[in-house]
Amino acid sequence: CKLAALDMDHRQHLEKLAVSIAHEIRNPLTTIKGFIQLLKPDLKEIGKEYYADVMIEELDRVNQIINEFLNAGKPQHPLAQKTSLNKLIKDMAVLYEGEAILRDIRLSTSTAGDDVVLNIPTNQLKQVIMNLMKNAMEAIDDQHEREIYLSASVQNEFATIVIKDNGCGMSEEAMALLYIPFFSTKEKGTGLGLSVCKEIIDRLGGSIHVDSSQGKGTIFTISFPPTLIVNKL
Ligand code: ADP
Ligand code: MG
Repeated sequence: CKLAALDMDHRQHLEKLAVSIAHEIRNPLTTIKGFIQLLKPDLKEIGKEYYADVMIEELDRVNQIINEFLNAGKPQHPLAQKTSLNKLIKDMAVLYEGEAILRDIRLSTSTAGDDVVLNIPTNQLKQVIMNLMKNAMEAIDDQHEREIYLSASVQNEFATIVIKDNGCGMSEEAMALLYIPFFSTKEKGTGLGLSVCKEIIDRLGGSIHVDSSQGKGTIFTISFPPTLIVNKL
């Protein structure tokens, strides 16, 4: 029992460290990107604008890897060790509102009448939803009508989060390889997003399930057993 407690302490320590490292890497990256942008007109004059574009693209890629791995969230308040699903869905709707408008996506959300509070850290669940939202947005990029639906509810006593898109969908082969690190069908994909999601959800004691049809869209369903549901914050 003591050993398990130590493990937990160790894990929390590592998680905190990872979040601080992400912050520490992000700041200089922003500075570098800013200066490259400033240098761009000069580079253009000597016909080397391309160098700036490649550098910015590569910096964006490092940023993407950090985003998919580590939540950019602030240090966690003790209350944030519990998660209100209604609040989480509302926060996500606000977070993606702007991007949805920019990408011309109809983003709809729904929550259960009675709030469900889970005994899991909010940051980690946010990390998962953010990775799934990113995939959904990338999958619908080429569609004429772009729709994403995000919901939380209770199904057969399991707390359930659904992220549904009407994007390109995936093949049976892709579905079999989905959670393997570095599996990606995208030109600029890291192939890390879903492996991170799976790792987090497994560790929290939940499960993640995918249903997809090529050309029609994809539904990711995350569920948590009743043992992880607490009634009040
Ligand atoms: P990446 O997004 O960097 O490619 P992920 O691990 O997030 O890596 O996803 C792995 C692969 O799973 C993607 O390359 C894509 O082929 C497929 N995929 C994931 N989500 C979706 C989705 N919503 N619609 C269609 N395909 C998806
Ligand atoms: Mg991804």
